[in-house]
Amino acid sequence: MKNCVIWTRVSTKRQEDNGGSLDDQRCKCEAFAKQNGYNIKGYFGGTHESAKTPGPLLKEMYHAIKKDKTISHIIVSVVDRFSRNVGQASTIIDELLKQNVVIVEAATSIDTSTREGIMMIKFKLTLAEWDNGNRTDKFISGRKHCLESGVYCGAAKPLGYDKHGKSLGTTFTINDKGKLIAKAFRWKLQGLANHQIINKLAAYGLEMSKQKLHHILTNPFYAGKIRHKMLEGKLVDGNQPCIVSYSDFLRVQDILSGKTGVYKHQKETPRFPLKRHVLCSKDHTPFTAYTVKRKNIDYYKCNLNGCKTNVSAKKLHYKYEELLRTYNIPKVLKPILHDIISTMMLSDNEEQRKNERLLKKQKTEYLNKLKACKIRFGTGDIDEDVYRITNEEYQEKLDNIELELAQCQKELSNHKEEVDEVFLICCKLDSLWKNSSLEIEQKLQNLLFPNGILWDKEIDNYRTFDENEALSVIARISRSYENKKEDFPEGKSSKVKLCA
Ligand SMILES: [Zn+2]
Repeated sequence: MKNCVIWTRVSTKRQEDNGGSLDDQRCKCEAFAKQNGYNIKGYFGGTHESAKTPGPLLKEMYHAIKKDKTISHIIVSVVDRFSRNVGQASTIIDELLKQNVVIVEAATSIDTSTREGIMMIKFKLTLAEWDNGNRTDKFISGRKHCLESGVYCGAAKPLGYDKHGKSLGTTFTINDKGKLIAKAFRWKLQGLANHQIINKLAAYGLEMSKQKLHHILTNPFYAGKIRHKMLEGKLVDGNQPCIVSYSDFLRVQDILSGKTGVYKHQKETPRFPLKRHVLCSKDHTPFTAYTVKRKNIDYYKCNLNGCKTNVSAKKLHYKYEELLRTYNIPKVLKPILHDIISTMMLSDNEEQRKNERLLKKQKTEYLNKLKACKIRFGTGDIDEDVYRITNEEYQEKLDNIELELAQCQKELSNHKEEVDEVFLICCKLDSLWKNSSLEIEQKLQNLLFPNGILWDKEIDNYRTFDENEALSVIARISRSYENKKEDFPEGKSSKVKLCA
């Protein structure tokens, strides 16, 4: 009677599912042993759950073989069960041969007792590896095709998204966590440090490590792009909805890499807002602009041949502000204007109200947890140590939520003050013009002087209007506010833009 041990192993979950289960292998080996008169002295091997390398399991078997010299054979269902890697499997076979142990493949009856047998088994291993490699290639090219088509079909699901469908049919939707991640990007743009963002997120109920946050803020997936090593550095437009716009995402990257500080809305003042708006009083030619690079000084000039009207930008801008300062919004129009600004800024307010509701919900949740913990302590379900630690942890979370809530409510009460502030700025046309983005500057200019304004070289100033015309200008502004609010200091960004 020959003594043997049986080796079974699956290296991946997929192998197990594909009919190569441990039970199946074991059955085949046992049947083979019975038919060929082997006495089974033990079982070795493992499952996909064990360590990825067969090392420790093999050592166990080597040890048993050394201890029991009567074991002369190892039965495996198929030789590649030792390892899918030819080199590794060959080493194992050679190692066992040195100990005079013969490997028998149950599926084919081939064994390593002869040189031919050894050759055949190693050849089979090579074939198996080649086949395996082939399968991986097929798998990879399928994935690559998906990625190149803008479908992120990986097993991992980025936080903040729900995944639907499979392979090329994969789609994503933004979930509640995704909405919080959108806030994280906004907070980063506002200049918050990562640890502040982590605290804020925690207050809203999303716990996250520093590494995870960094990973999220640098992951272009959230800006609708796909980056993958299979795409070799190419950035592909994905089919997933954006959580942050790509331009904002790039700004966040700049902030993270320290290239720019916090991104400020219109950090640089527009260089030539009056280009084409101011006309030469002599010939009504719109001014063009240029810079004397040597001195880095900006000029406006009349481009008409022979007309040498030429003004420094500094002067033209300053005089424009001075002119605007002479126009005051009449008293009767002020309440209307105030009302309009308040409405414009309401969307900001709405966002804060949503935040407040979310935070209050979180607060209630933790208060309930705290209460439940107290009850469990009271009834003796948990001991004092556990109670104290849990209590502390919940309290800490609550403190964080309270802090965030207080800030949120402060911002809500600030709303009225902010409206007043913006109103004040809007009443001062000069500072409104000076502090706006180019787009708003130009809108304002066109609103005030739809046909442009003349620059008179002789008096070194703009040609001024009489009182009536000034009043009509104001009326025009008020009408514009009422009719197309979104058109003039637009929507919710007005606050940032006006106060910058
Ligand atoms: Zn001219």
